[in-house]
Amino acid sequence: MGKGFFHVPTAINEPIKSYAPGSSEREEVLQQYHTYFNGNIDVPLYIGSKEIKTGKTKPMSPPHDHKNVVGQYHLAESKHVSEAIENCLASRTAWADLTWEQRAAIFLKAADLIAGPYRAKINAATMIAQSKTIHQAEIDSACELIDFLRFNVEYMSQIYGEQPESSEGVWNRVEYRPLEGFIYAITPFNFTAIAGNLPASAAMMGNVVLWKPSDSQIFSAKVIVDVFKEAGLPDGVINVVYGDPVMITKTALDSPDFAGIHFTGSTKVFQDLWKQIGNNIHTYKTYPRIVGETGGKDFIIAHPSAKPQQVATAITRGAFEFQGQKCSAASRVYLPKSTANEILDLVKKDIESFNKPGSPEDMSNFITAVIHEGAFDKLAKYIDQAKSDQNAEIIAGGNYDKSKGYFIEPTVILTTDPKYTTMETELFGPVVTVYIYEDKNWSKTLKLVDETSIYALTGAVLSTDRYAITEATQALQNCAGNFYINDKPTGAVVGQQPFGGARASGTNDKAGSSQNLLRWVSPRLIKETFVSPENYRYPFLD
Ligand code: NAD
Repeated sequence: MGKGFFHVPTAINEPIKSYAPGSSEREEVLQQYHTYFNGNIDVPLYIGSKEIKTGKTKPMSPPHDHKNVVGQYHLAESKHVSEAIENCLASRTAWADLTWEQRAAIFLKAADLIAGPYRAKINAATMIAQSKTIHQAEIDSACELIDFLRFNVEYMSQIYGEQPESSEGVWNRVEYRPLEGFIYAITPFNFTAIAGNLPASAAMMGNVVLWKPSDSQIFSAKVIVDVFKEAGLPDGVINVVYGDPVMITKTALDSPDFAGIHFTGSTKVFQDLWKQIGNNIHTYKTYPRIVGETGGKDFIIAHPSAKPQQVATAITRGAFEFQGQKCSAASRVYLPKSTANEILDLVKKDIESFNKPGSPEDMSNFITAVIHEGAFDKLAKYIDQAKSDQNAEIIAGGNYDKSKGYFIEPTVILTTDPKYTTMETELFGPVVTVYIYEDKNWSKTLKLVDETSIYALTGAVLSTDRYAITEATQALQNCAGNFYINDKPTGAVVGQQPFGGARASGTNDKAGSSQNLLRWVSPRLIKETFVSPENYRYPFLD
């Protein structure tokens, strides 16, 4: 930046549209949904200025109607990944040297494109690819992605503004250099916003990126690519490949120019990536940044003073929205004996009021399909196990059917064992497990919550008793990176609740905050002395 200290537009959260019957946004998104559903999209690799069709393809189908093919994507071979890395490196200097306000303008334009002409497209694509209801698509692929882009631009400008003091005769300055090499972004299926944000946040700070989206999200990832292109992102800054994740990852991590990984996905995959990076450490030109947000086993604990209706709503919304496929979804619940039956009756009533799981095209559906057959089979296995285990009982749902879509009924398992497998294991589906504790064991139960799972992502306490809230906040301080009081544990908003967990849930670099952006820069301190000394001798030597 040579010619002005520029202020970026103040970021505000994108308002959520209602999609109520008769609204223009509802009509528009349904029209786009039908176009996509009945169309056939061919998704190439995006490498430099080229759109590469390798001829080796995989079909894309909506999880709620898996026999309907909506397109296919082309699979990369190792040589394509190498070519993508070469394109990253060839684009690096020009992109890193572009003044920051130009980078900001590109991503602010991308946000405005999503808020306007691409809103129906990105939402409809997310409804198709990930089987999100329109509300879930709107809060993810439209609002959250817009918020990530706008707030990160603001955080970027704040970071650049952070400068050291200077003493007399000296001027100290810090340059926030992008990392030397390329960033590898690996993104999960469950949020279009995360898929867009992981490559974009690193690129915004001047880095070049190799992006590998999840196989189950490529249909909506393509809209992100279209938006970035239309926003004016230069070719080669974000190169996009799909295919065998092991091969792509090996090629990326074997490169001496690998400078950082921006990952969101499951814990085991991240741990394996970390190991591979460790094994290669002597080959890298720079110590790579490792940022990963991973699994969760998110809890709700209700104190005996909590209002049953509020606890029930927190469970229904927290556990079942988007079929429980949010990393923050409530999946283990601790209820006091005195109010447990009332709470569970209310939850059952909520579940009975849902339509049977179905397509998001029918906007009266609250529950749609889980992402793919692998997820469906895994969930069905745990449900069957609960049906036969002595220490577990299914008190709501428990049915599943994959003949048309991967439909799992919202299911509540009641267990007498607080360490029952579904109290500990991340299932990532519309299945919640409940353990009932004796009211007098409240404090002991807090300890149990803390010790039960390897994860520490989100959690919620519900209570009307301030002493109980204080005790829970203290006792549970290490078992959730995002902790909620009298609310469900899901629904973090960019700019308000920076998101991330500790323990096996990730490096807690808080997506949607300046803490995350700082991982993608390597500051250079420049000290300039105005009148340089000309004699080595200090006064004490006299
Ligand atoms: P996943 O781990 O199966 O896949 C994530 C990404 O990793 C995908 O792009 C996938 O292709 C890739 N991948 C899979 N195996 C790989 C391998 N061996 N080497 C390299 N890459 C590989 O996760 P998912 O099913 O897409 O997403 C769900 C998971 O993500 C859950 O565990 C959830 O908790 C987690 N998640 C966490 C957060 C968070 O902020 N903590 C947010 C969203 C999702």
